[in-house]
Amino acid sequence: MNQPKYDLELVNVTKCYGTTVAVDAINHHFRPASYTCLLGPSGCGKSSTLRMIAGHETVSDGSVLLAGRDISHLPPARRGTAMMFQSYALFPHLSVLDNVAFSQKMKGIDAPTRRRAAAEMLALVDLAALADRMPDQLSGGQQQRVALARALITRPQVLLLDEPLSALDPFLRIRMRAELRKLQQELGISFVHVTHGQDEALALADEIVVMNNAVIEQAGPARDVFNAPRTEFVARFMGGHNVIALPEGHFAIRTDAVALTAAAAGRLDAQVIAVEYQGTHVSVTARAAGDQDITATVPDHQFFNHPSAPGDRIGLTWAQESQHRLAS
Ligand code: ADP
Repeated sequence: MNQPKYDLELVNVTKCYGTTVAVDAINHHFRPASYTCLLGPSGCGKSSTLRMIAGHETVSDGSVLLAGRDISHLPPARRGTAMMFQSYALFPHLSVLDNVAFSQKMKGIDAPTRRRAAAEMLALVDLAALADRMPDQLSGGQQQRVALARALITRPQVLLLDEPLSALDPFLRIRMRAELRKLQQELGISFVHVTHGQDEALALADEIVVMNNAVIEQAGPARDVFNAPRTEFVARFMGGHNVIALPEGHFAIRTDAVALTAAAAGRLDAQVIAVEYQGTHVSVTARAAGDQDITATVPDHQFFNHPSAPGDRIGLTWAQESQHRLAS
């Protein structure tokens, strides 16, 4: 499918449920044909944001624009978006093909046309061979692909996915995320994917929008958000960082940028409190003055050339440029 590139924009989008402000006047411009993850802890307002884009929830204030057009007050089916839900809720009494064709049936499209369209979508998600199966004859991953085909048959300009991988086991989750990424690139449309998993967001997204307490804490290309977290919250939530208080301020330092030295030979002296072997590397956590716990992920061979154990006094060091100042 060679579709034009549509961009999605949120302008002061707000959602209140009674006195709860679930989304507080957020602004974001989603890049056309990009894979964006809305990432944040439970309750931060991700799903409310997604549902307002989809039209399953009204906006309390602000607007949602698609290709410059205000879609905030259109019904879901007329927005140019489609949503894939966490629970795929396939119709148990309909075949895979009829599940996918269902929305077209509701629109009054004739049987041969809708069956052809459904078959095309099933081919897209690699399920052509299973078109005549019933949903209970499919694995979880296959059911999910049917749900994807069912959302894509509406030819959306933006596909919205609410925690789409959370029901899958870890192995399938990793396989499905590669498939989602490939599908997004093949279709050339925007995907907006809600997740609370930073590893999932890093693996999938061109852009990550980190939300916290109803606002966008930081947004940008995945590598920028990981390498240059703006706040302590982002540094801690993305993981892989230490947050260190120094006389000059608070800094994030990647755990793989911290090296171990002999005591009194590094920037800080510390006492090892935990050593965890993790296969490719060893994670060493040491406590420095002021009860600051700092973790170093050390390549395994390097660690075993100079092993250390809980209780040892060591030094910790890092290059000046890996020290990244955080906004207070
Ligand atoms: P997330 O998807 O990040 O977990 P949600 O958007 O679901 O967050 O929720 C944001 C906030 O809004 C939470 O405090 C939640 O309890 C509240 N909330 C969500 N849906 C409703 C609702 N239908 N009625 C009342 N409060 C809601």
